[in-house]
Amino acid sequence: MSEVEIVDELRSIVGSANVDAEDEINPDVLHDESLHPAPPEVCCVVRPRTHDEVCAIARCCREAGTPMVARGSGTGLSGAAVPVDGAVLISFERMDKIIEIDLTNHVAVVEPGVTLERLDNALAGSGLYYPVHPGERSGSLGGNVATNAGGMRAVRDGVTRHHVLGLTVVLADGTSLELGGKFVKSSTGYDLVQLLIGSEGTLALVTKVIVKLSPRRDHRATLLAPFATLEEVTEAIPHLVATGVDPAILEYLDLLTMAGITAAAGLDLAIPPDVADVALAYLVVVLESTAADRLDDDAAEVAQHLAELGAIDVYELRPSVGAELIAARERAFYVAKANGATDIIDVVVPRAAVAPYLAEVSAIASRRQTFITGCGHVGDGNVHLSVFEPDELVREELLMELFRAGLDHGGAISGEHGIGTAKLSAYVALTDPVRLELERRIKAAFDPTTLLNPGRSMRGTPS
Ligand SMILES: Cc1cc2nc3c(=O)[nH]c(=O)nc-3n(C[C@H](O)[C@H](O)[C@H](O)COP(=O)(O)OP(=O)(O)OC[C@H]3O[C@@H](n4cnc5c(N)ncnc54)[C@H](O)[C@@H]3O)c2cc1C
Repeated sequence: MSEVEIVDELRSIVGSANVDAEDEINPDVLHDESLHPAPPEVCCVVRPRTHDEVCAIARCCREAGTPMVARGSGTGLSGAAVPVDGAVLISFERMDKIIEIDLTNHVAVVEPGVTLERLDNALAGSGLYYPVHPGERSGSLGGNVATNAGGMRAVRDGVTRHHVLGLTVVLADGTSLELGGKFVKSSTGYDLVQLLIGSEGTLALVTKVIVKLSPRRDHRATLLAPFATLEEVTEAIPHLVATGVDPAILEYLDLLTMAGITAAAGLDLAIPPDVADVALAYLVVVLESTAADRLDDDAAEVAQHLAELGAIDVYELRPSVGAELIAARERAFYVAKANGATDIIDVVVPRAAVAPYLAEVSAIASRRQTFITGCGHVGDGNVHLSVFEPDELVREELLMELFRAGLDHGGAISGEHGIGTAKLSAYVALTDPVRLELERRIKAAFDPTTLLNPGRSMRGTPS
């Protein structure tokens, strides 16, 4: 089948207005938020509206032997949604129906194009919410599933894979498959829902997601603790987690990141100059409760622990300022990008290893004479480093060193952004070949002719 025939066939499936080819293609859909996307030449962009249309698209692509790449909102940070040359890009933006909010079973059933923001708005007033909170609320549920998105609340609420109960998917040959359901546990065969979560569109196309909802806790306090050293902040974390107070958010920010995000947001935290002068790092602790008096007790307890753990001082921020600080932190990526960051990486290590890992990062940065700043979900050991290294050769070696150091501290290359294209070479170089081979075989079982997101992760690469 020629490209023209494929486009005609896809137009007959979804309607002409929902297939863009050649100069009809909006260049914005050909990249995500990763910092080094290579602009591809795709066959076309297709926007299905229904599950059956996705099945028909997959059948057409299989017959033509054309690669398919799924796209949610394009907020991914590792290039996983950047299509390969010649691909059919399947954009799920029109599959954005909230199918059901089931208040009795505490689940929401959604199409993959529903964004986090829309789901959150739809749940307002229900007493329930979807607790996974990656920093970009325009991300889609389909994209969240495919990347196993995490975010600031992971320390208490977990990540996407802890909240997905069921999926409806389309396999590479157009076959439909329903997995899981509204039930919260299962010991019935291999857990294919969990296998598909985080598979970056390489095993199946997601057309429906069933997620578990949690009760809202309406009372919230945000504590800000400046520390004299980054080491003290990171060493405090295991102790705070062990108190049992259960913070919803535990974020660290180094001095430069804090200065950058507050300046970009025009946010004045009113930190006294004598404290600001000596603070080299900050910890933000968000506490939530269903009862105001319990929240006050928890805030007092955490403040006392922070003081004992070396905080220079502890401030409880006004609710509006606390919300603004969290919003500013969510935009840390854009601030780093605007300032010329060449890479954002999200190594995860055991939480007690964050301090030695960051000490090693600092040593690597000094040795390489590269500027590296950081912040991150320190409660779950996930550090986000902004790397500023214009020299391409140094950059590649440096990233490899940073990843290897994370692995040496018992961690993993990516805690939540995924492998995509950005970390593919590091993943291949640093991963046990036995695991890589198993991943290839799993890929072959789902997608024997390597049509789904090929070459976009090890799992998409033929052996
Ligand atoms: C400012 C900012 C802050 C961020 N903060 C965080 C954070 O704190 N934590 C975090 O985890 N992430 C964070 N991210 C990353 C991003 O929001 C997530 O990776 C998100 O999960 C991607 O969703 P998306 O809809 O944009 O997916 P896309 O970027 O469009 O795609 C991501 C992957 O999902 C696949 N995919 C999309 N839809 C489907 C489908 N229906 N079926 C199969 N595969 C599909 C794509 O092929 C691709 O492999 C941040 C991003 C930004 C820009």
